[in-house]
Amino acid sequence: MTVKTIYSFAEGKAEWKELLGGKGANLAEMTRVGLPVPPGFTITTEACRRFFAEGEQLPEQVARELREALDDLQEQTGKWLGNPDAPLLLSVRSGAVHSMPGMMDTILNLGLNDDTVEGLAKQTGNPRFAYDCYRRLIQMFGNVVLGLDHFRFEQIMERHKQVAGLRLDTELSAKHLQAIIEEYQGFILEKSKRPFPQNPLEQLRQAVEAVFLSWNNARARVYRKIHRIPDDLGTAVNVQAMVFGNRGNDSGTGVAFTRNPATGEQKLYGEFLLNAQGEDVVAGIRTPRPIGELAESMPEVYEELMMIAKRLELHYKDMQDIEFTVEQGKLYILQTRNGKRTAQAAVKIAVDLVNENVINREEALMRIEPEMIERLLHRQFAELGERKPWVKGLPASPGAATGRIVFSADDAERWAKAGEAVILVRPETTPDDIHGILAAKGILTSRGGMTSHAAVVARGMGKACICGCEELRIDGKRKQVTAAGQTLHEGDRISIDGGTGMVYLGELPLIEPMLSAECEELLAWADEVRRLQVRTNADTPEDAKKARAFGAEGIGLCRTEHMFMDAGRLPVMQKMIMAETLAERKEALEELLPMQKEDFVGLFRAMEGLPVTIRLLDPPLHEFVPDLEELVVSQAKRESMGDVDPQQRKQQEQWIKKVRALSEANPMLGHRGCRLALTYPEIAEMQVEAIGLAAAECLSQGIPVQVEIMVPLVGHVNELKRLRQIIEGVLARHKAANGSSIAFRVGTMIEVPRAALTADEIAAEADFFSFGTNDLTQMTFGYSRDDAEGKFLHAYVEEKILPENPFMVLDRDGVGKLIRWAAEQGRKTNPQLKLGICGEHGGEQKSIQFCHEVGLDYVSCSPYRVPLARLAAAQAEIARRSQ
Ligand code: PEP
Ligand code: MG
Repeated sequence: MTVKTIYSFAEGKAEWKELLGGKGANLAEMTRVGLPVPPGFTITTEACRRFFAEGEQLPEQVARELREALDDLQEQTGKWLGNPDAPLLLSVRSGAVHSMPGMMDTILNLGLNDDTVEGLAKQTGNPRFAYDCYRRLIQMFGNVVLGLDHFRFEQIMERHKQVAGLRLDTELSAKHLQAIIEEYQGFILEKSKRPFPQNPLEQLRQAVEAVFLSWNNARARVYRKIHRIPDDLGTAVNVQAMVFGNRGNDSGTGVAFTRNPATGEQKLYGEFLLNAQGEDVVAGIRTPRPIGELAESMPEVYEELMMIAKRLELHYKDMQDIEFTVEQGKLYILQTRNGKRTAQAAVKIAVDLVNENVINREEALMRIEPEMIERLLHRQFAELGERKPWVKGLPASPGAATGRIVFSADDAERWAKAGEAVILVRPETTPDDIHGILAAKGILTSRGGMTSHAAVVARGMGKACICGCEELRIDGKRKQVTAAGQTLHEGDRISIDGGTGMVYLGELPLIEPMLSAECEELLAWADEVRRLQVRTNADTPEDAKKARAFGAEGIGLCRTEHMFMDAGRLPVMQKMIMAETLAERKEALEELLPMQKEDFVGLFRAMEGLPVTIRLLDPPLHEFVPDLEELVVSQAKRESMGDVDPQQRKQQEQWIKKVRALSEANPMLGHRGCRLALTYPEIAEMQVEAIGLAAAECLSQGIPVQVEIMVPLVGHVNELKRLRQIIEGVLARHKAANGSSIAFRVGTMIEVPRAALTADEIAAEADFFSFGTNDLTQMTFGYSRDDAEGKFLHAYVEEKILPENPFMVLDRDGVGKLIRWAAEQGRKTNPQLKLGICGEHGGEQKSIQFCHEVGLDYVSCSPYRVPLARLAAAQAEIARRSQ
């Protein structure tokens, strides 16, 4: 039996989302539960895929079923396509499995032609309304099906308004509209060499094909890429009997969210426009009214809408985004879907729904994308004091952003590529601007409401956005914007606060973000579920404290090299490196010792007894000395200017000699990590001594210390064996000298493939392994981590040679295999072996899932990713339980 390609709304249900798309499945579900949904049918995503497979031809089966579905709809409504006495008018809308707001095309009022428009005028007694509908159809059809520029139609209409001396579209009379329609039709014939089709069936067929084709338009492709939606899913098409929100002041159309999508507040939220049709609200062309005002203009409709909103939310157990139309006082629901929301709102809504007994904690945890948690740590402006905003708009997507203004999406992209932070300023954004929104730090528009495309898209991406800032007079051509007596030009700096809607002139300082109470609550639930511990990579007490505030349970990696980079330390470090003899080097190390001890005291204090993993010096020494080329050039300059102090010259020559001696053809594979500690053991000895002194000091003050000393870049067991002896030797001497004994563990990073392969041997010498997946990825792929991302990795991912950038998402099949092997073999030799990860992957969702699967004990990541990691670790455990 061949599978049907079209289902009426009465046949489908919510579970058929893959087949009917999100919109189609929800229309069917709402019809099933008896809500006021205008009747219609859905052409499946499968039909779309077949359309593309058959060379962009509507398959015969689909064409046949389309005629049958239409017959049924005609019977059901008592209206007929093309019949002037009772014309059936249709909307044709896209509806993919994953919601892609505004990215694909829609056609309304389909079925009107030169005859039926007369019928509609007669029937409604409102010729103006009828001609306006027809005008809109021709315009949408011309744009969507025939590919003519929307703007050209607007120009024609503008001209008619000017000639008639009118300002608003709504002032155009039926006569004006008839003249516009005639000109539209002429324009279509001239440009596309075919007339606007008078046969409504032909209109329908072409419209369906065009909506299928819009799956592949440029903005939809970009959107899919950003949201990682596969390109081969296709879209469904929903054909539905029209209802009209533009039949006078007892009609209207709007969008309602069951909760506030920006903050999560539990209150019906949305906007509507009286006497307006469908797309006027979401397209952001007219600035709509807040939904609360509907209670005044149509109290009964408002009541009913509130009731339906509650019912839909309980039915779907999530916040809904509802499109509705009121036709002559009667409410129709045109769409419902899980509403897009900011990260802040997502967390609040999930937590509130648990507290309202609608969902359970695990469901709430699974609903939040871990990346959202990271986004939640939005930056904010520092205390603003008396500072007054320049202008104010609608707070459409929270977060603070500051940057230079640009006036087109292309400019935003170009400037951002050149490294500039930009704010995109537009009258309104259209879906074609998506690349500019992506590139900008923030978006500011003069028109449109909180549900306009700019707002929806920005919220989805976690970008700061202010909409409907009506004071702004934007001149895109001259690249300038004026408000409050001030004109800004391209490149001028502004700051926007998407949480309050305030726009400030100039650049405001930003402060670090904090977690909301709801987020703390959600993460506390995550902590109860997760098995993986979460530590942080931190080198300073400040970072360590921040990470603890975010829930870190220890330091998984302290990169000690960072402690020698600051201006006070570097000269001493350089003195140590420049030393010609062991005695000289030891002298410099003596100087470094107290500084290093203070570093560790700071960390131990901040962590108050939680484990602190300190890694011995890792990078090659030349990273601490000036660049060879710079030294040579500066000396040559001096010589040429006759500036030759003999003492200085000698010193400079010594530098050059030393830097030359340190330079390596391939430093990443060179004299670094444990190799450095084995050839200059006195450096490692100083570091271990500092650890001993710091621990003793803290213990004497009653501060508990748990220290783990980590050896980097081990590839052979003997490297670790030797260094373990050195470490234990220093600590034994320390004990003998000070009488105090500190508990410590010695372990190694696993970041060289040979170490992973011989993990059974290495584990005999190690108390713990920490997978350094940055180096392990570098060495397993043979990709230089400093070069690959800038050179070829981007193209590899683009061309799908690699599924993801392996420096961001752990490569399970290669690097992952080594980790799994090392974990198993290591634990075989040493069942007590503790296992962790401290490469960048420790803060990435999919990689954390992998770490959970292979049974690591902890992940360690940068402080800002700690909350994300807590959630991802909980999700990994919930996913395992449900397998
Ligand atoms: C690693 O290689 O994964 C690691 C954590 O060390 P670093 O990035 O400092 O080389
Ligand atoms: Mg490393």
